[in-house]
Amino acid sequence: MADCVFCKIAAGEIPAKFVAETAGTVAFRDMSPKAQVHVLVIPRRHYPNLGAVAAAEPALVAEMVSAAAGVAGAEGVAEGYRIIANTGLGGGQTVFHAHLHMLAGPSLPGF
Ligand code: 5GP
Ligand code: ZN
Repeated sequence: MADCVFCKIAAGEIPAKFVAETAGTVAFRDMSPKAQVHVLVIPRRHYPNLGAVAAAEPALVAEMVSAAAGVAGAEGVAEGYRIIANTGLGGGQTVFHAHLHMLAGPSLPGF
C-alpha cells in the first residue's frame, strides 16, 4: 500500500533492524522501544489492523503469534513476554498496518 511505512519496511525500502522473517511475516525492532526487548511482528501483506487479518486470513494471525514467540525464544526471554495489538485511534494505534508488539524485560507495568 502506498505511503505505508510498514509496507515499505517489509519491502526493504525503509531500513529496520530485522530479527526474524517467515513466509508471511517480518519482525523488526521498534525504533522507540518501550521495554528492554520491543519487537514488532507484521504481516507482509497490508491489513489495517489485527482484526482485519483475522477476518481475512486467520492462519496468518497464528503465524504472527508464533513468530513473536519464536523471537522471544531467540532473544532468551526467560521470564515471559507480552503481546499487544493496539487497534484504532482509541486503542493507541499510530501505524495503520497490522502489527503485534512483543515486549519483554524487567518491570513491565501491570494493567
Ligand atoms: P502503534 O502505536 O501503532 O501500536 O505502534 C506503532 C509502533 O511503530 C510504535 O511503537 C513506533 O515506535 C513504531 N514505529 C513507527 N515507525 C517506525 C519505523 O519507521 N521503524 C520502526 N522500527 N518502528 C517504527
Ligand atoms: Zn502497509
